[in-house]
Amino acid sequence: MHVRKVLLVNPWIYDFAAYDLWAKPLGLLYLGAMLRKSGCRVDLIDCLAYDQPAPKAYGQGMFRREIVAKPSALRHIPRHYARYGMPVEAFKSQLARLEPPDVVLVTSLMTYWYPGVSEAIRHIKQAFAHTPVVLGGVYATLCYEHAAANSGADHVIAGEGEAKLMSLLSDLWGQRIEAPDDLDARAYPCLDLEPSLRYGCILTSRGCPYRCSYCAAHVLSRGFRRRDFHKVADEIAFWRGRGLNDFAFYDDALLAQSESFAVPLLKEIIDRGLKVRFHCPNAVHARFITPELAHWMRLAGFTTIRLGLETSDPARQFSTGNKVTTDEFLQAVDCLRQAGYEAKDIGVYLLCGLPHQEAGEVRDAIRLVHRSGARPILAEYSPIPHTELWAQAVEASPYPLEEEPLLHNNTLLPCRWTGFTYARYQELKHGCRSGSGL
Ligand code: SF4
Repeated sequence: MHVRKVLLVNPWIYDFAAYDLWAKPLGLLYLGAMLRKSGCRVDLIDCLAYDQPAPKAYGQGMFRREIVAKPSALRHIPRHYARYGMPVEAFKSQLARLEPPDVVLVTSLMTYWYPGVSEAIRHIKQAFAHTPVVLGGVYATLCYEHAAANSGADHVIAGEGEAKLMSLLSDLWGQRIEAPDDLDARAYPCLDLEPSLRYGCILTSRGCPYRCSYCAAHVLSRGFRRRDFHKVADEIAFWRGRGLNDFAFYDDALLAQSESFAVPLLKEIIDRGLKVRFHCPNAVHARFITPELAHWMRLAGFTTIRLGLETSDPARQFSTGNKVTTDEFLQAVDCLRQAGYEAKDIGVYLLCGLPHQEAGEVRDAIRLVHRSGARPILAEYSPIPHTELWAQAVEASPYPLEEEPLLHNNTLLPCRWTGFTYARYQELKHGCRSGSGL
């Protein structure tokens, strides 16, 4: 029987800054695993995993970068713009070493990173003129028309890709390929194809039970579903057995209903004697942290904790989705401190540059977080199509956001205005680090 060949490609990032905060193309690796399980031969070119400088303590670190010319829409930004990842020639020679695949799957992340997507597809098409290229991921979902018109892909898939991709490939190849809906029936993501793997990535659920006005989780996933915690522990043990110590959770709502999921999962990890460290760069919900949960998090090896507070303004907390109140946040920090965490371990994301947001609101939130015994981290707002806040962002921004995804880049502070200038943002950022001068 003819063995189908599949090439997975994780393209370059084009941006003013990028950092490997436990960043792997997990969705793409899940698709690769599903196809491998169905008998395909799967190869991966991860443009970002190339010649990375030595990692920091827990596997995170820098990407290799090359400074490149800025696109005209970003020419006014007084910062270097770079392509992160492998040299173009290295990508072309990796393509040249492969036999022509039956399909190439390209993923995408931030909408404003699309130049890396279209560049990768251009080279793929030059190398394999007759191979269909399928694009999925975040940019493909949120800017579907833009991606269909500009990426060069033969097929663009929006939203969760498994069922749609397997249906497309079944049609193209004339053979049925299964996409199990049950998350526990899916193969582990093919992280083994990644060169020099420094950490594992774990996804225990899909979607989020909340619907915050600035977030596209509801567009990217179709509802909140969870795996069996025993199966998640099996997967962590599997990767631990292959030498990985550090694991990043990719969930949107890891701690939701913690008594029936996070607490038993963490106890299971402790009972199995798994000596690992966990990191949650996506932030976890402060609302669900109890003294008991904080205790188990500490014992199980939670090391990098990020909470999403976003704002300390009660009206905005409510109007943006009510995922946490200030009292719940303060209780959560208290529980974590009681469990033994220090301020440096507890990073708290604060959104800044929301449409019509005053700088004083961000200043108040920074002060609150410092007083609470945690560490504030500014998260510059990036307007996201299909979110509730998108229309307000389009109306408030001095940039034509609907015309050009490059202008969604948070480095621009796309919704800045006289009440929140770039200079004031710089002061706040400094105050975030120093805890004074606000
Ligand atoms: S809780 Fe987090 S993941 Fe869920 S909708 Fe809100 S911001 Fe998005």
